[in-house]
Amino acid sequence: MKSGGASAQIELRRAESADDLLRVATIFREYAASLAIDLCFQNFDAELAALQNAGYHTVSQAQLFDALYHGTPLPPKPVLISVDDGYVDDVTRILPALQRHHMVATFFVITGRFTMPGFLDPGQVRRLDRAGMDIGDHTAHHVDLRLLTPAQLRAETLGSRRVMQRTLGHFVYAFAYPFGAENQAVLDAVRAAGFTMAYTTAGGTTESTSAPLLMPRLHIGRAVTPSGLLALLGGA
Ligand SMILES: [Zn+2]
Repeated sequence: MKSGGASAQIELRRAESADDLLRVATIFREYAASLAIDLCFQNFDAELAALQNAGYHTVSQAQLFDALYHGTPLPPKPVLISVDDGYVDDVTRILPALQRHHMVATFFVITGRFTMPGFLDPGQVRRLDRAGMDIGDHTAHHVDLRLLTPAQLRAETLGSRRVMQRTLGHFVYAFAYPFGAENQAVLDAVRAAGFTMAYTTAGGTTESTSAPLLMPRLHIGRAVTPSGLLALLGGA
């Protein structure tokens, strides 16, 4: 993809009449480990129940990739849930809730925070991975990638991916931009680092092979209720 952010968006719109287009709801949360976390967690559990009751099926990164590139069918009402930033609650609370509902999610983890209090350590990241969850890279230091020198940009993308792959012992191909911030240099670095799917914070529920490094996601804020979530996904 040689286009910039703006023209890639045009590509995405143009693709809406093409075959290489899938309606897959992609939703995500960014948690702040704070006093409000209990409320967030209760929302999360209720949101999963609402999705399940409305007939949604969570899908993995591999399922989305296979559907986009190989035409493998997805379950009805597919939804890809991601949880950003790698707070320790991912393993203590989010994972058990997902397992209760027999659902999967992608955790976008910040590799430079493995030793910081409140964040996942490498063993906890491996625990999520072994539980069948997807682990994606969310850079080393969660900075606005547009503001970096080329060397810094490489460290936050390729460097972070290498750390994550050493941690997990396998390939890592999904990436999420901190703050959703990207431009052409950032896209080039993410592609050069070897990521094949990258997620923005641009709202949207249509994923396309014409812009695999600009996958939109719907941000589910704290104030969103379970019925509000279903409404965001387009009724049901
Ligand atoms: Zn983030």
